[in-house]
Amino acid sequence: MGERLYTRIASDTLIPVTMTRTRRKVRPLDPLVTSDEPEAIEQTLRPSTLADYVGQEKIKEHLTVHVGAARRRSEPLGHTLLHGPPGLGKTTLAHIIAHEMGAQVRVTSGPAIEKPGDLASLLTNLQQGDVLFIDEIHRLRPVIEEVLYGAMEDFLLDIMIGKGPTARSVRLTIKPFTLVGATTKAGAVSAPLRDRFLHQFKLGFYELPEMEKIVERSGHILGVPLASSAARLIAAAARATPRISNRLVRAVRDFAEVRGEATVTDACVLATLLSLDIDATGLDATDRKLLSTIIDGFGGGPVGVSTLAAMLAEEEETIEDVYEPFLLQQGFLQRTAKGRCATKKAYEKMGRTLPEQMQAGLL
Ligand code: ADP
Repeated sequence: MGERLYTRIASDTLIPVTMTRTRRKVRPLDPLVTSDEPEAIEQTLRPSTLADYVGQEKIKEHLTVHVGAARRRSEPLGHTLLHGPPGLGKTTLAHIIAHEMGAQVRVTSGPAIEKPGDLASLLTNLQQGDVLFIDEIHRLRPVIEEVLYGAMEDFLLDIMIGKGPTARSVRLTIKPFTLVGATTKAGAVSAPLRDRFLHQFKLGFYELPEMEKIVERSGHILGVPLASSAARLIAAAARATPRISNRLVRAVRDFAEVRGEATVTDACVLATLLSLDIDATGLDATDRKLLSTIIDGFGGGPVGVSTLAAMLAEEEETIEDVYEPFLLQQGFLQRTAKGRCATKKAYEKMGRTLPEQMQAGLL
């Protein structure tokens, strides 16, 4: 479990910091998240080596080269920025990097680092080569970012101690480390911070065969006997996102137990999806409401995200980070300067008549 550490930065300041040696993290927004979800299960399902990590082949190729080179030189891997929608494997990759480098990982998140002293405490407690994983790095406060720059570039930390006329600057040396930053909003990471990452990887949605592999792997680890057609149904309904497929496998397991099925059948998967209000292509009630709001309420759009958020009673951030990426990737939605528009595919999916301009191919 995470250990509570107290670090003395100066004689009069004692800063509490939770140094998580475990994989505890601030969970990103996710439509299927339940707050009581046992963290331990996620840990069990998380692949710990690059070889076990399914898909994202280009990223794995790059990491294999750079991790190998860094290990040969006995240096930490260059700082690495991972971006992409929630649940695609950024945290997992940070742990894998540490594992492959033979290092420890310390986990925190942008909003958790409130004061420069918090950052100083985290950094000064790192061992040579450790990986510091900062989730939601786009939410770091500017004053923290400033302090981080020196740490990333020269492994030096300049912080101010005290206030007013007695304030003084203290320079601390930190052991060479690797910062792995993760964000769902690459555009919200400031340019100076982004430029300090040697490696930058964009995680994409998973292909269906990759999702099938992940479902089968999770089923195997959790001891859920899945018929291969049932695994395919789960994979197709998981929004191309491993975290969601893991949740579905667990939900399906419960259904199978209740139905007294030794092997999870297609019927069992379909019953689970129905009860979760998820269709066979992974769209849930909110996705459908989002599309129908644009089509029925705004003639197909454009609609601003704040209007959509109000109508769906969701946070703008949830719409942007959780729902939109998959709908965009699937071609149901278009993002324009004026707002979001429903596509022809969305009209077809929702069973609505195409507007005349669309029928004429003008939109
Ligand atoms: P993110 O940090 O991007 O939100 P996580 O790394 O927490 O996503 O991934 C969520 C879960 O999905 C993990 O617990 C892991 O079990 C699974 N997962 C993610 N990526 C992969 C992958 N490439 N192969 C197998 N399982 C994966």
